[in-house]
Amino acid sequence: MNKPKIEIYTKTWCPYCRRAKAMLKSLGLDYTDYDITDNEELQQEMVERSGKKTIPQIFINDQKIGGYDDLIELVSSGGLDDLTEFERPNCSEKDWDLAVIGAGPAGMTASVYAARKGLKVLMAARDIGGQVLETDTIDNYLPEYGTSGPDLMQNFLKHLRNYKIDTLFGEEITDINPQAEGHILLTKSDKKIKTKAVLIAAGTKKRQLGVPGEHQLKDNGVSYCATCDGYIYENQPVAVVGGGNSGLEAALDMAKIATEVYLIIRGEQLSGDKSLQDKVNNSDKIEVCKSYQTTEIKGEQKVESIRIKNLNTGKERELNVKAIFIEIGLIPNTGFICEHLDINQGNEIIIDANNQTSIEGIFAAGDVTDIRDKQIIVSAAEGAKAALRANEYLN
Ligand SMILES: Cc1cc2nc3c(=O)[nH]c(=O)nc-3n(C[C@H](O)[C@H](O)[C@H](O)COP(=O)(O)OP(=O)(O)OC[C@H]3O[C@@H](n4cnc5c(N)ncnc54)[C@H](O)[C@@H]3O)c2cc1C
Repeated sequence: MNKPKIEIYTKTWCPYCRRAKAMLKSLGLDYTDYDITDNEELQQEMVERSGKKTIPQIFINDQKIGGYDDLIELVSSGGLDDLTEFERPNCSEKDWDLAVIGAGPAGMTASVYAARKGLKVLMAARDIGGQVLETDTIDNYLPEYGTSGPDLMQNFLKHLRNYKIDTLFGEEITDINPQAEGHILLTKSDKKIKTKAVLIAAGTKKRQLGVPGEHQLKDNGVSYCATCDGYIYENQPVAVVGGGNSGLEAALDMAKIATEVYLIIRGEQLSGDKSLQDKVNNSDKIEVCKSYQTTEIKGEQKVESIRIKNLNTGKERELNVKAIFIEIGLIPNTGFICEHLDINQGNEIIIDANNQTSIEGIFAAGDVTDIRDKQIIVSAAEGAKAALRANEYLN
């Protein structure tokens, strides 16, 4: 097989760049990484080649692929199958004892434990590494003091490769069809996965506002990562939504480069750390809009303004901003199963002490569940526990 020429333009602190590189690595694909962080010449080259300012930008054999989501689409549609050394299982011909949904700490650990029990395991996941890839330094996953998120997850993956575990990466599960004699999982690319038991380890994702214009203008002014996309809006007015630590940090970062920053919060008070609150309150670039709710994001091709409404008076304001950074926390990835399983008010899957959900044969582990502690070490342990209980169930 001829080695493909893969090039990726990245910045050191960009989580989507890490996710894209983790995906390529896990497929066994080498790439040339152009770090454009402080390199204007490379930045210009990227814009000229891709027509985009957002990162990452990926090229395969000089063909423009796009960003992280485009890479995932390509992987899931089988567009990279000819280039990779790993075989994708044929879902129409095979069935499994256990299908694990998710490749974060919970999903990877669960898959290893299940394979060690001799189960036929399929691990299907949209990305590889989950939220851990967003972390620069991890000091509390023993004994890997000071490791980075991407390095830790590559070590998880290396460990996993010692076992016979079928993997479907870049694949999103869109529904579960629970049946008495086994379950059918449906994927975004129309695959049907047949399995006797299921283990959901789907973690969490960034919470969205759910207002008109948000979906249409995503990546064109609507962003969920000020660290990644903030630099595009240098010398322009922007808004940040969210009064917790992420919102305050995003507002302070943007205050260094934007002309003005509107920080929109629903409550009467900021809720992040006191030191961050003080910095925000002392900034002459940040206007805190208290008791306001965003009602609409407006613009044809790009964000041109947003509408916000005062929750006490009902009075509306239109803010002329070029970008809105949404930093309002995380939500469990339970959209695809909430019709079938019992979930709590926070959309977390309710499990018992055996990681069993409300449907027999469907287990869950990690941040997607109602366990209190959302940590790597806890998720990994919960994954192990859930796999052992699934094995007992199958026995
Ligand atoms: C910025 C940040 C920093 C953090 N720092 C630390 C830290 O220092 N120490 C620590 O212990 N914890 C930290 N955490 C928390 C830690 O990352 C999580 O607790 C942990 O990753 C949860 O693991 P998980 O496997 O349950 O879920 P995740 O890591 O969220 O993995 C979920 C997996 O499921 C997949 N998935 C989701 N939906 C679907 C679907 N429909 N179909 C297929 N696949 C799907 C995803 O692609 C992913 O592979 C941090 C979190 C963040 C966001």
